[in-house]
Amino acid sequence: LAATSVRSVTVLGATGSIGDSTMDLLRASPERYRVEALTANGNVAALAKLAKEFSARFVAIADSSKLGELKAALAGTGTECGAGESAVIEAGARPADWVMAAVSGAAGLKPALAAVDRGAHVALANKECLVCAGDFFMQRAAKAGACILPADSEHNALFQALASGNRDELVRVIITASGGPFRTWKPADIEQATLEQALKHPNWSMGQKITIDSASMMNKGLEVIEASYLFALSPDEIDVLVHPQSIIHGMVEFSDRSVMAQLGAPDMRTPIAHCLGWPDRIKGPAAKLDLAKIGQLTFEAPDFERFPGLRLAFDSLRTGKGATTVYNAANEVAVAAFIAGKIRFGAIARLVEATLDDWVRSGNQAPMTSADDAISVDHVARNRAAALLPQIALKAS
Ligand code: NAD
Ligand code: MG
Repeated sequence: LAATSVRSVTVLGATGSIGDSTMDLLRASPERYRVEALTANGNVAALAKLAKEFSARFVAIADSSKLGELKAALAGTGTECGAGESAVIEAGARPADWVMAAVSGAAGLKPALAAVDRGAHVALANKECLVCAGDFFMQRAAKAGACILPADSEHNALFQALASGNRDELVRVIITASGGPFRTWKPADIEQATLEQALKHPNWSMGQKITIDSASMMNKGLEVIEASYLFALSPDEIDVLVHPQSIIHGMVEFSDRSVMAQLGAPDMRTPIAHCLGWPDRIKGPAAKLDLAKIGQLTFEAPDFERFPGLRLAFDSLRTGKGATTVYNAANEVAVAAFIAGKIRFGAIARLVEATLDDWVRSGNQAPMTSADDAISVDHVARNRAAALLPQIALKAS
C-alpha cells in the first residue's frame, strides 16, 4: 500500500469503542481514506449517521429485523444496505485495502475471515475471534497473503518491539496489564463485586464486555492466547506483568538481554493509527507522553490465585486442540450471565474452569482446521457452559 494513494477502508463494528476511535482517525484525514463498508449490531441511527458522514458504499446491520429502518434512514444517499450475519460477512468481503476487525466476541470471526481470504490488510482488535479460531486463523492469513496488523495495544507494542530482532534472538515477550479495578481487592470482595464496580476501569475507556474481562483479568488471558497465535509463541515465551499506569504496553526480551518496550498514553487511537499508517507512520491524536508528570512507573507480578482466569488461559494454551475456543466461549457465556445478574463476579472464572474440565473429560479435542471446526467447538462449549451455569451459580466460593 503506497503512502500517497487513497486507501479504501472497512470498519467491522464501526459503532463500538474501537470503531469510534477508528472513525476519529479517518475523520482527521479525509483526503487519504475512502470508506467502503461499515457494520453495526443493532444501532441503526449511529450506523446511518456514520454512513452519511463518510459516504460509505455499503452498510450492514447484524440485526436482520432492522433492514427496513436502515434503508429508510439512508434513502437517497446511494449507500447500499444489508442486514443479518451474511451482510456483515459481505462487508468483510467487499474490496477494501484495509479492514478494522472490531466486532466484539466470536461473532466477528466469519466477517474477519472474509477480509483475510481476500488478502487484505486486517487490523485485528477482535481478540476473541483469534482465540476462538486457534492457529488456523493465521495459517489462513498466510495462505491468502493477508497482513494481520495487531490493533490490541499490547500486541501492537509487541509488533513494534519485535522489529528489533529476529525469531532466533527472541527470548520472551512481556504483556503488561493494568490489573483492572480489583487489582488490590481481597478475594472475598472480588467474589461479590457488582457490575457497576466491574465497569469502572482505572485507565481505559472501552466496550462493556472487554471492561468486565479486564476486571477478571480474562482479558489478559485472552491476550496471552492472542499473542501465542499472532506471533507463533509457546506459552513459556509469554509473561504477564502488572503495570498499573498502563504506559508501557508490551516488551520484548532478546538473547543479549536487551528489552525493547513501546510506551504511550493509554489511548487506543495510538495503536490503531499505527495499523492505519503501516508500514508508514501517520499523525496520532493522543496526548503527548509526559513521563515527568507521571513520575513513576510501577510493576507487580500477576496473582494467579485471585485472578484464576489468567491461569486458565495458560492451561488452555498448553492443552491446545480447541481448548482456547472453549475458554473464550465459556467466558462469553459467563460475562453475559454476570451482566444479566445470574452469577456472581467470582463465578465467571469458575464457569470457564468447569467448562474446560468438562470438555477435556469429554475427549472431544481435535485439531482445528476450518472456521466450521472452530464454530462447532464454540457452539458445543456455549451449550456446556449454559448447562453448567445453574450449578455454578449456586456454588458459593
Ligand atoms: P464495543 O462493544 O464497544 O463494540 C462492538 C462493536 O461490534 C459494535 O459496533 C457492535 O455494534 C458490534 N457488534 C457486537 N456484537 C455483534 C454481532 N453479534 N454481530 C455483528 N456486530 C456486532 O466493543 P469494543 O470495546 O469496541 O471492542 C471491540 C473488540 O476490540 C473486542 O474484541 C475487544 O476485545 C477488542 N479490543 C477493544 C479495546 C478497547 O479499547 N475498546 C482494546 C483492545 C481490544
Ligand atoms: Mg489490550
